[in-house]
Amino acid sequence: MTCANCRKTEYLTRDYCRCGHYLGGQLEDEYIAWEQQLYSAHCSLSERTESKLRPFRYIVLLGLPFLVVPLAQMAFLAERVSVATLFWMAPALVIFGVFAIIERFLTRPLQRSAMFIENHTFADFFDQKHQIKSAMDAGSDDKWTVTTNSHTTEI
Ligand SMILES: [Zn+2]
Repeated sequence: MTCANCRKTEYLTRDYCRCGHYLGGQLEDEYIAWEQQLYSAHCSLSERTESKLRPFRYIVLLGLPFLVVPLAQMAFLAERVSVATLFWMAPALVIFGVFAIIERFLTRPLQRSAMFIENHTFADFFDQKHQIKSAMDAGSDDKWTVTTNSHTTEI
């Protein structure tokens, strides 16, 4: 790791840098910052997912009458129920089915991200730190994609 005080590379096993800087504390700070970054990345992903889902929710609302009207007809006018009544429910069922698939597809990165937040360890932090460092050494730009958090989350 790199000492924040003297900018020299120091062994991870050492608690103190050769310049006297407390590396253990620095590492903890970096870990906490990394965790906060995970949470904020998750929050913005959650917002983006919600705004993607919103238009589909309206479509589901449009499908609702197709289900409610035949059901009401069945409940109150039981003697007049026909096959045609049941056919009226078909569009609603199609809409709900399609929405369930879309919702599942759109919330998958979010669930992955939530799972990572729940199960992450210090080792993950270390892996990413290492990945970022090697990317920096390789000279890529300063936009990182956290592959383990979510496949699309930029930090
Ligand atoms: Zn130092």
